[in-house]
Amino acid sequence: MEKIYCQGCGVLIQTDDPDKLGYTPKSSLDKETVLCKRCFRLKHYNEIQDVSMKDDEYLKMVSSIQKAKGLIVHVIDIFDVNGSLIKSLPRITGDNPIILVGNKMDLLPKSTNHRRLMQWLRTQAKEAGIKLLDVFLISSVKGHGIEELMGEIEHYRNNQDVYIVGTTNVGKSTFINKLIKHTTGFNDVITTSYFPGTTLGFIEIPLDDDSSLIDTPGIVNKQQIAHYISKEDLKLITPKSEIKARIYQLNSGQTLFFGGLARVDFIKGDRQSLVCYFSNELPIHRTKVEKADELYENHVGELLSPPNEKSLSRLPKLTESTFRISGEKTDIVFPGLGWVSISQDATIVAHSPKGVAVSIRKSLL
Ligand code: GDP
Repeated sequence: MEKIYCQGCGVLIQTDDPDKLGYTPKSSLDKETVLCKRCFRLKHYNEIQDVSMKDDEYLKMVSSIQKAKGLIVHVIDIFDVNGSLIKSLPRITGDNPIILVGNKMDLLPKSTNHRRLMQWLRTQAKEAGIKLLDVFLISSVKGHGIEELMGEIEHYRNNQDVYIVGTTNVGKSTFINKLIKHTTGFNDVITTSYFPGTTLGFIEIPLDDDSSLIDTPGIVNKQQIAHYISKEDLKLITPKSEIKARIYQLNSGQTLFFGGLARVDFIKGDRQSLVCYFSNELPIHRTKVEKADELYENHVGELLSPPNEKSLSRLPKLTESTFRISGEKTDIVFPGLGWVSISQDATIVAHSPKGVAVSIRKSLL
């Protein structure tokens, strides 16, 4: 086949694999303007589709942002801040100004204090070495906060391009699609001639005659639990609606299982409440620490599920980390799965699939 390039994003066209970059059906090859599926969907349905790639490919690709000038909009998943905050961001984006957008706010309890949460996000970013211009909280699915954010992007971008960056699954595409729909008259201006295709895989959506909004591919973070479980299980653990805190009064010597994917052992401390923030569909099971290993061995994949019997073989073994909590309300975070909030002094052993590192943080809520 003669080499054909997409007139949208510049990628090499292929007709074999619909899930890979550059796919277009054979029947579209004789058209005057050949577009890959991703650009075709954007042009005709005003819809961005997510593509993802490996870390090294990604870094190579996005390092071109360093040389460009523009506003960086870093979208993160508020339910998985540790897993979605890109710690190497300043290396990728150079001196360009960054704003942080916490998406999926609809999942957090309505009582969440927004100001505190924004302050907490600023601290998290600072600790990761990311200097922020501003922080916003939105829900792309519900449309909350989008209008205000658009106004601020317009203000901060100073007539320059806007780069949207994020790990996979944070809702980057949903966000961009909302932006597109939100801008009146925007639908009509998307034509192929607006896609200069300067950087492979970057999709450009014109903002005005001189500048564009640029969607970059989602970076894959291997610490995300999503990479160790089946699609079916991922659906189950991904919250779809506001998380209801589940509160357990626990004595030392007791264990909580979160499906068969994670576990906390309350080793030492006074009787107290453990407040659990996980998808409402993820079953939590209480037992004694001394019985927990045996229960897990005999019942993971059935009583302790997800995973189910089929997806069990994919799950790495659970590994332990010990945390001594004292002084302030602390969250024990299982990236991508949820967290347990503890208010009093305690020694806790947390178990998570190998590769998915548990961490603690000052309480989010
Ligand atoms: P991308 O990989 O970053 O482009 O993410 P997508 O836009 O494909 O979204 C990933 C998943 O998160 C999908 O299941 C979306 O429905 C969901 N999602 C995106 N935005 C939100 C949001 O604001 N709230 C909730 N609850 N889910 C969202």
